[in-house]
Amino acid sequence: MGVPFKRSKGLTDNILQPEKSIVNRAREHARYDIRTPMNRRTLFKHSLGLLGAGYARASQVDEPTHRPRGVGALKITDAKAIRRNNYLYYQIFTDGGVTGVGEPSPSNELAGEFLEKVLKPLIVGMDAFAIEKIWEKMYVSTYKERGQSVSIAISGVDIALHDIVGKALGVPVYQLLGGLYRSKIPVYASFTSRERSPVEQAKLCAKMVEQGFTGTKIKIAARQGADGPPAFPDEDRVREARAAIGPKVKLMVDANSGYSVPHAIRMGRFLESQDVFWFEEPVPFWDYAATAEVAKALDIPIAGGEQDHTRWDFQKIISAKALDILQADVTKAGGLSECRKIAALIDAAGLYYVPHDTSGEIGLVACMHLVAATPVCRYLHEYIMEERKNPPVVKEPLIPRNGEIEVPRKPGLGIEV
Ligand SMILES: [Mg+2]
Repeated sequence: MGVPFKRSKGLTDNILQPEKSIVNRAREHARYDIRTPMNRRTLFKHSLGLLGAGYARASQVDEPTHRPRGVGALKITDAKAIRRNNYLYYQIFTDGGVTGVGEPSPSNELAGEFLEKVLKPLIVGMDAFAIEKIWEKMYVSTYKERGQSVSIAISGVDIALHDIVGKALGVPVYQLLGGLYRSKIPVYASFTSRERSPVEQAKLCAKMVEQGFTGTKIKIAARQGADGPPAFPDEDRVREARAAIGPKVKLMVDANSGYSVPHAIRMGRFLESQDVFWFEEPVPFWDYAATAEVAKALDIPIAGGEQDHTRWDFQKIISAKALDILQADVTKAGGLSECRKIAALIDAAGLYYVPHDTSGEIGLVACMHLVAATPVCRYLHEYIMEERKNPPVVKEPLIPRNGEIEVPRKPGLGIEV
């Protein structure tokens, strides 16, 4: 059977400059200055001065960002993490009366504490319009804690800032991201359970197709690191699902890092015989070399990246030729502004961006704005079936109709909590 598309072979090894934090920039200046007549003590003082200047610049509300007449100053006055119905989201308040909402991925249990203890003191007093400046300050200032948990908290703030700016300017967030490229987003029915029997799962997939979904994703393998027998044979799960949905509907599988390299390659050959559209996280997601080995051996596109964050992670993944479909999550990877940068890397490498999304309602809306404005998000997008039975906080939650979600057109994210 045919495969959806061939893997790009023309990736460059290093398409971006390495990370340049304020610290690195200061070091570069210091290196340059070695060539000038400056002794070590002067050089040390000079470096410290540059570092201090960098942080001072980042902490000031010095030059208000240009905004239309009638839009007042929007200095950040407070940031709160709100837990309602076991669901966590952020609210960022400004002195202009505009409040933004954002969502950190639910996979960080400490995202509330991190906002209030670490990020809030950094951003209070800053101009909410200065999104890049705020992002850089949050990222640079948390370099000792850096990792997915920090990135999740930064993502929640970044989404809320886009909501604030959109509301203040009276435009939807997609307009801030480059304008409307597509207004209806096709989504696939994504199932997270491994407990259902192959027949039960296949029946649910078929039901989703009846409702208009044109793609569905099921779990295979025994989950992360196990490489042991799953509850039901993987081959049965895939065969039953394919038989139930027919040949035209896209079928994806997610192994959640569950196989070793040889097992993944053997399974991948079977998946190709079943015309599976992509094979997600075949081996431990943190092992880019192992993932690249699997990708090289198979024709089926390999998907992944839901656990990775920032442009620097994705630069490494792309350089390793590990993945064909990249799944940076807006609520984990650094928010909307960072995912725009990641999208540019993916586009330049000739690959595809299909954001992962297992967040709540606010995260879903943020993701839809990103997809609406980003050309390289060309395939079906994730719509999780199990977790969104009772939308907890959004007054008008986004519900797919005929397998598509209409992007909100109101200012900001276009939702109310
Ligand atoms: Mg996944």
